[in-house]
Amino acid sequence: MNKFSKLVNGDSAAFLLRWRGRQEGPYPPSTIEAKLASNKIGLLHEIFDNDRWITIRDYIKQREAILRIEREAREQKERNAREEAERQAHEAQENVARQLLELANANESARLRTAIISEVRREVWRRDQGQCAKCGSRVNLEYDHIVPVSKGGSNTARNVELLCESCNRSKSDSIE
Ligand SMILES: [Zn+2]
Repeated sequence: MNKFSKLVNGDSAAFLLRWRGRQEGPYPPSTIEAKLASNKIGLLHEIFDNDRWITIRDYIKQREAILRIEREAREQKERNAREEAERQAHEAQENVARQLLELANANESARLRTAIISEVRREVWRRDQGQCAKCGSRVNLEYDHIVPVSKGGSNTARNVELLCESCNRSKSDSIE
């Protein structure tokens, strides 16, 4: 029986003890506990606490209830803090995922902006008769924007020509 002193609120507490109208003490919790342990007093002895007499049994019950509520409140607070931390971590992950998605979308729309659709390719091939618009070569042909998309050029056949790889390279070199 070492319960009583652990349940006492405050280290310096001391209690008057009463049994059948006779008072003694005040005693520190350890003394009351020692008396209980040696059966000098029982759980129906009263102690003076909070301006009233209360049996040791009721005092123990009451303190256990208070401590349980305090413990539950503390656990709830810890749970809330943990959940909040998890929520923030989750939110950070979602932000990263959203930024990656935005980046992917930006890349995709940049790709679409410069993509030359197959209909335009067919038309340009026919118009340029399958040869380089500069040197007439028929090998390593590429579709090239006459005015670069980045400078406002469109994706229509009017702005696209067939160039061989080497003419295309020398053109990009002169633009840069
Ligand atoms: Zn060429």
